[in-house]
Amino acid sequence: MTVKSFLGAPTRPPLLNGTRTWDENVLSAASDWNAQGAAVQITVQVGGPFADPCGRQGRGHACDNTGPAGDNPIIFANDFCGRDFGDIIQLTNNCYQPDTGAMVNAPVFINAKVRWNAYDGRIRFDTSTGVPEPVYDIRRVILHELGHVLGLAHPDEADPPQAVVAIMNSRVSNIDRLQQDDVEGLLAIYPRSAPGPQPTPSQGCSVAPKETTGWFWGTAFAFLVVIRGIGRSAGWGHLRNRVRF
Ligand SMILES: [Zn+2]
Repeated sequence: MTVKSFLGAPTRPPLLNGTRTWDENVLSAASDWNAQGAAVQITVQVGGPFADPCGRQGRGHACDNTGPAGDNPIIFANDFCGRDFGDIIQLTNNCYQPDTGAMVNAPVFINAKVRWNAYDGRIRFDTSTGVPEPVYDIRRVILHELGHVLGLAHPDEADPPQAVVAIMNSRVSNIDRLQQDDVEGLLAIYPRSAPGPQPTPSQGCSVAPKETTGWFWGTAFAFLVVIRGIGRSAGWGHLRNRVRF
């Protein structure tokens, strides 16, 4: 799959990890997933034609607030298509085919109103104003969001919740690299030997623009998929990430 990074560069490079652009950190995070030998590779395209993901499902929008099928942009945004981020720092809006769980697309929105840098290790805080403010590491957050683009969900929000060490847990933490559970999740969806089963969504959104073939799933049906999916899955597959991370 291809993701398109439209993050560009900070005003004053370099970033703390020595990179000069945000895009370099998208490339680096993608290479972490790609190194696991799964039957999926993330190709990062920097820049290029931009299709605004915001809009109602229909022409040019595979789901509400996702762009054309297969289009996975990563963008800074002041809100999520007009909705306030609240305490969310990044949001991936996944669009699936409810019948098969196949990924359609997943734009990643990065909250431009919080502070970003790129570094390894413990989460940093800026104390220069007297009130400590978190400065988020964009690399680990992109690593997490690419997991959503691949179809992984939060293990700590699965039903039942899984108490595991993972970059895919719902809160940003001092973990800055993939953990065993993350890799196991990736390989559960995309086994090493062959293109495997598609991710099973734990929630649903209606994916099918009527002008395309075969997908005629309404919102009500998608809701049924939500209930059924929660009952049967361990949480892999994730439709709309609306948590802090
Ligand atoms: Zn998440």
